[in-house]
Amino acid sequence: MSCIEHKTTPSAPGAAESRDYNPFDEMEPRAPLKTPVDRKNGKHVKANAIPPQGVYLPNNNILAPHMKSPEYVQLSTAAAITLGIMGGRMYGCECTRCLNLLLTYPEGCRANCAYCGLARHREADRDYADRNFIRVDWPAVPMTDIIDIVSKDAANSPFHRMCISMITHPRSEEDTFTVLEQWTDRIDPDAIPVSILSNPTTMTRDDVQRTKDLGADIFTVALDAATPELFDRTRGKGVQSPHKWSKYWEIMLQARDIFGPQKFGAHIIVGMGETEYEVLNLVQELVDLGGHSHMFCFFPEQGSLMDHLPATPRDQWRRVQLARYLIDYRDVRVEKMRFDGQGRVVDYGVADAELADVIDEGIAFRTSGCPGKFQDDISACDRPYGDSPPSDIASYPFAPKKKDMKRIRRQLDIPVTLE
Ligand code: SF4
Repeated sequence: MSCIEHKTTPSAPGAAESRDYNPFDEMEPRAPLKTPVDRKNGKHVKANAIPPQGVYLPNNNILAPHMKSPEYVQLSTAAAITLGIMGGRMYGCECTRCLNLLLTYPEGCRANCAYCGLARHREADRDYADRNFIRVDWPAVPMTDIIDIVSKDAANSPFHRMCISMITHPRSEEDTFTVLEQWTDRIDPDAIPVSILSNPTTMTRDDVQRTKDLGADIFTVALDAATPELFDRTRGKGVQSPHKWSKYWEIMLQARDIFGPQKFGAHIIVGMGETEYEVLNLVQELVDLGGHSHMFCFFPEQGSLMDHLPATPRDQWRRVQLARYLIDYRDVRVEKMRFDGQGRVVDYGVADAELADVIDEGIAFRTSGCPGKFQDDISACDRPYGDSPPSDIASYPFAPKKKDMKRIRRQLDIPVTLE
C-alpha cells in the first residue's frame, strides 16, 4: 500500500435520488470463461506461423501473422489514418495529434483487466492482433515503416507526441527500450516528445530510469481504477489478473522522483463504481504530488468482462470532467467542493461567473492526457472516440462547438448564463 491516504465517500443518509451515476454494487464484471488449451498463449498463431508482410489490418479475413515487437507495433486507427497507412475519416477531426503505439506479441497481454479489449481471456475467441481496444482496431505495422514516414519531416509532423503503451508481457521492458531507442535515434524528442504508458507490474526503478535516459519526456501509470477495492476487482485477484494497487503506486512515486513535477501522471477510468468524491480526491492527491490525471469515461468495450454494464451516465462524467479540470488547472481544491450523500458534486468551489467562464472555454470537456504543442491544458493525446461513439461524445477530440456546449450544459444541469 502506498503512503497515500485514499478517501472514501461519507455514508449516504438514505438518499433516494434518481440514479445518474454508476454505483459500485452494480458494476460487477462477469467471470472469465476457460480458454481451450490450443488457444492459450497465442499457440494458434504460432502454430500457423504465417510470416508478416508489412501492414496487417485486423479482422480482414486473413489469419493473424506471427508478429512481435520490437519489429512490429500496433497503432490506433486514428494514428494509422493520420500516417496515411489506412484510409478513412474521423468525425470532427482531420487527424490525431498523438501517435499511440502498442507493443504486440502472439501471446498478447498476460493480464486480464475486466474493462479491457486486450485482456487475456479473449484469447479464447480472438487473436491478439485482432482485438479491439478503446473501441477501435489497432493495425500492426513494422516500426521502421512508422519511423521512415515520421522522420521525413518531424518538425512539421501532425503528431505533437508519441506514446508507447507497454502491455503485461515478459519482453515488455526490453522491447520498449528498443522501440524508444529506434525512435530517438532518428527523431528529435524535442520535435516530437515521447510518453511512456507503463506496465508497473513487471517494472523496476531502473527500468523507469532507463526510459528517461533513452529520451522519454513523460511517464504515466494506468491506475485506471480509482480505489484499491475497484482496482482489485477489475485488475487484480477479482479477474485472475496479476496487478496490485501498491505496485502501481510504487512505480508512480518512482516516476515522480525520476521525471519530476508535471512529467508524470495516472490514467483513471470514471464510472466503474467509484464515487465522484473518491475519484476527485485521487485527482487532488495527484496534483499535490506534482502530477496530472488523464481521464477516460467508462465504455463497455465489446468482448470485455464489463461489456454488459452501462457506460458512465453523461451527467456523472461531465461533473467529474469539470471538477477535475478545476483541480488540475485552476488551483481549486477538492476540499472547497461540496458533495451529496452519494458522493456527487453539488458545488464546484468557485464563483458562478468563474465556473461559467471555464465551462464556456470548453477545454474541460476535451480529451485529457499528455500535452501537445498548443497549450498545457490541451492534450496531444486526443484519442478520437476512444471512450464513446461520435453520436454521444464523452471526451471531445476537438474544441466543442456551440451546439456541443449546449448539450454539455444540459448534461451538467447548469443553464446558460445571460451575457
Ligand atoms: S494490462 Fe493494460 S493492456 Fe493488459 S489487460 Fe490490463 S488494461 Fe489491458
